[in-house]
Amino acid sequence: MISTHILLSLWSLCLPSQSVEALGFEASIDNLQSHVRFLADDQLLGRSTPSPGLNRAAEYIREEMKRVGLAPVANSYFQTGEVKAFQEASDPGRIKLKKPQSTIRVVKKFRSVFPLPRSIQLQDLLIVRAKNLTELGRASKQHAVVLDRPPNSMAEMVHYISAGCAVILLTSALAPQEHSELHMLSQYFKVPVVMLNDEQDWDFLTESTHIDVSLNAHSERKVKVHNVVGQIRGTDADLKEEYFVVGAHYDHVGHALGHGFPRGSLGQDKNDLIWNGANDNASGVAALLECARLMMKSPPRRSVLFVAFYGEEAGFLGSRSFVAATPIALKSIVAMLNFEQLGRIDDNSRPADIPKGSIAITGYNYSTLPAQIAETAVNDSLHVYRHPQLSDAYFYRSDNAPFAQANIPAHTISLSYDFPDYHNAQDHADRLDYAHLNQVTGFLARAITTCANRDDAPKWLIKAIP
Ligand SMILES: [Zn+2]
Repeated sequence: MISTHILLSLWSLCLPSQSVEALGFEASIDNLQSHVRFLADDQLLGRSTPSPGLNRAAEYIREEMKRVGLAPVANSYFQTGEVKAFQEASDPGRIKLKKPQSTIRVVKKFRSVFPLPRSIQLQDLLIVRAKNLTELGRASKQHAVVLDRPPNSMAEMVHYISAGCAVILLTSALAPQEHSELHMLSQYFKVPVVMLNDEQDWDFLTESTHIDVSLNAHSERKVKVHNVVGQIRGTDADLKEEYFVVGAHYDHVGHALGHGFPRGSLGQDKNDLIWNGANDNASGVAALLECARLMMKSPPRRSVLFVAFYGEEAGFLGSRSFVAATPIALKSIVAMLNFEQLGRIDDNSRPADIPKGSIAITGYNYSTLPAQIAETAVNDSLHVYRHPQLSDAYFYRSDNAPFAQANIPAHTISLSYDFPDYHNAQDHADRLDYAHLNQVTGFLARAITTCANRDDAPKWLIKAIP
């Protein structure tokens, strides 16, 4: 473990001209709570990209940015992009199960998990019931593979999808995050995955059954989605042309309502079908809005751009489109700090010798920024640390990644990499530690102000871009 308990002597050398202690940055628990409660409310249905709940969240964040006094960028608080949305056909198609010397059974309740860009007709497929990966060796283009349980991991699912079968039939539920992960994979593998929702059909899926599958294409449309941006203009005549970006994703993985899940594989509460994403990542957005409010009181020398991203859970869609078409010149962005999962201190992944509630930064040794952030923690009785394994492993796991790929020192700051309820329907607003989130938010406002006040901009220490 490389501890980042920073030496006081180092701190005094780096103290900027304006004492950040004098700024009196006190975050408000009430503000943080009401931001998280709004974003994680059931009414927003888990904020998947794209969805009406996501857009309601965007409007809320825009109004809050206006309220705290952030200025728009290029005359707007929205940087608007488009994503594809797929709609299932009203007639999904036909699946027929044919046993030798027996009647034909028509499957009534099914849905395809992947969006289908094209209709599919497959006749007389044979069935392979795959209990494990080695059995998959028998599958060919003439086979439907039946999976009786959700895949243990996406890596396992990739094996199934790439096994070369014609179709995969699932007889168990997939949670929404598995849908979104499969959705991403479907770009690379063209095998349809179909969930059969009626238990009575499952008994027919023996290896003597032949099966006809005809699936109608989903309709595709483009839907507008928004990154929400606001800025604080810097106070220094020269440095104000440089930007420090503070980011947090506001989307989550959605809900399972109306999916017709046949089994209760959806976490502790079978009736809870909405993935609220309170810690992931309403907490990060709440901290971003509250940091913006505090920093408005005493703007730093550099300008600061606050960006709430859509589509992180679907593969950094919002941050990628932001970097591809920044509303300010890309080269004026000198650093990026991304807020993730700041509201819970019950971290499954925290090393035993790290105090509870410590703050982790990804790619800790990659640039000078993490150590600069950590310097400020000395006065806050907070620990900022490098996780010995996960600091590097998580560097490309959030919205800092597209910035880093554009050669901007960019990191994600979190309280936990893996908390109970991660990507689970019970990631609820009442499970957050608001007192700690409050302390961390005040610290972040001071730390970012300190960094944005420095004469020198953050620099890469090692080449982190592959
Ligand atoms: Zn997240």
